[in-house]
Amino acid sequence: MADHDVDLFVIGAGSGGVRAARIASNYGARVMIAEEFRVGGTCVIRGCVPKKLLVYAARFSHEFEDAAGYGWTVPEPTFHWPTLIANKDREIARLEAAYTATLERFNVKLLKDRAVIEDAHTIRLSTGVRVRAETILVATGGWPHPGPKIPGLEHVISSNEAFHLPELPKRIVIQGGGYIAVEFACIFAGLGSEVTLVYRGENILRGFDDDVREHLRSEMRGRGITITCGHTVTAIDKAGDELVTRLSDDSTITADKVMFAIGRHPNVTGLGLEQVGVKLAEHGGIAVDEYSRTSVPNIYAVGDVTHRVNLTPVAIREGHAFADTVYGGKPTPVDHTHVPTAVFSEPELGVIGLTEAQAREQLAKVDVYKSSFRPMKATLAGRDTRCFMKLLVDGITDRVVGCHIVGPDAGELIQLVGVAVRMGATKADFDATMAVHPTAAEELVTMREKAISYGRSAAE
Ligand SMILES: Cc1cc2nc3c(=O)[nH]c(=O)nc-3n(C[C@H](O)[C@H](O)[C@H](O)COP(=O)(O)OP(=O)(O)OC[C@H]3O[C@@H](n4cnc5c(N)ncnc54)[C@H](O)[C@@H]3O)c2cc1C
Repeated sequence: MADHDVDLFVIGAGSGGVRAARIASNYGARVMIAEEFRVGGTCVIRGCVPKKLLVYAARFSHEFEDAAGYGWTVPEPTFHWPTLIANKDREIARLEAAYTATLERFNVKLLKDRAVIEDAHTIRLSTGVRVRAETILVATGGWPHPGPKIPGLEHVISSNEAFHLPELPKRIVIQGGGYIAVEFACIFAGLGSEVTLVYRGENILRGFDDDVREHLRSEMRGRGITITCGHTVTAIDKAGDELVTRLSDDSTITADKVMFAIGRHPNVTGLGLEQVGVKLAEHGGIAVDEYSRTSVPNIYAVGDVTHRVNLTPVAIREGHAFADTVYGGKPTPVDHTHVPTAVFSEPELGVIGLTEAQAREQLAKVDVYKSSFRPMKATLAGRDTRCFMKLLVDGITDRVVGCHIVGPDAGELIQLVGVAVRMGATKADFDATMAVHPTAAEELVTMREKAISYGRSAAE
């Protein structure tokens, strides 16, 4: 050990890196962490947290509208984007300081610098300083895909810039159909922008349950968002202050901003991975085993850079498990099944487990329970909206293998449904649970009629 400056060098102070550094240090390791931008990483600085603050802001518009039916007279509300952005930035700075203080408290040495791997035990900083480490953890996260090289690509913003626009765009075109595109479409629409979502596939949110995708699409349309599927953006022309977006069918849309949210790539470029022999997986992320170990035995990788399940809690869990495994004497593989997830669209979406299509493919017998209903709050508000809930049940074991919710607080609900599903709750357990009345969630324990039942015959 004497020939190493530190036991562990972590590259990237985001969700995964900070957790790994803190826990490893707590086990007694000497730890350094390098961060080239801001401590906290994507989630805190330009991901989950600032996004959720914008989501809250956007939802007030519906609250003001709905209040009238409940007897309130709300003066014509006005919205000031610079106030929201300044307040959001203040909160992000507070969180960044809290993350930095945590690292200090746990005796992790923070280097505000870019770090690359020179050899299996040497890290080089952009200042030229070299650090020798027994173990290296790569936690460099991901980056928005810039998009294909089309004319006018230089006018396109990503989610990174969307958080810092000087003013709210009156009209915005968003290309993409994943959760980030959908969430930003709902944020901008809620704040008053005219939004067109352009997606090359058949329907938004590929990979989610088909009923959920259809339900959310129709709800988004109901809130004034134009969704154009089956097309791509082929060019963007700047005409004065306006951007004219050309689509693959040759139609054009004039807007003030064009944003692409067409996927994220693992941050692997220029890190020195190839020369040291760290292999990449086919999807472009760093290939790792169940303990997050790469093809080089003393180099590990966690979080989005491994492109497994790109979510903050997963990066945190992987970072923690790495530290438990390497420094805590507790080999801890991470279970990537049963990951509950939310899309903070309007209305919100909460999901755990299999989609109907996956359940049909994987199980011999599947029972499907569905419910679509008007939430009580919408009645007096006069809002035309519906909640949607769906349970997928293994027809042989009676276990609930999938739960899909579209409606208010779906993210909050799915966190708890996630516990039950992970514990192996059966449909009979759901049915035996007393309802909480009057709530939307009670629907989850009162769905009795099978919407459909699939079964494979023994011959299949
Ligand atoms: C708009 C948006 C919304 C999101 N919303 C959600 C959500 O609601 N819920 C959820 O669970 N997830 C969400 N995510 C995903 C989530 O942010 C990521 O999964 C999570 O941040 C991954 O953590 P990480 O530690 O792998 O990487 P990151 O948090 O990205 O951290 C990597 C860090 O490494 C630094 N770095 C990179 N290269 C170097 C280098 N060579 N030297 C030094 N430092 C380096 C980067 O600057 C960065 O700070 C969202 C992401 C985006 C973009």
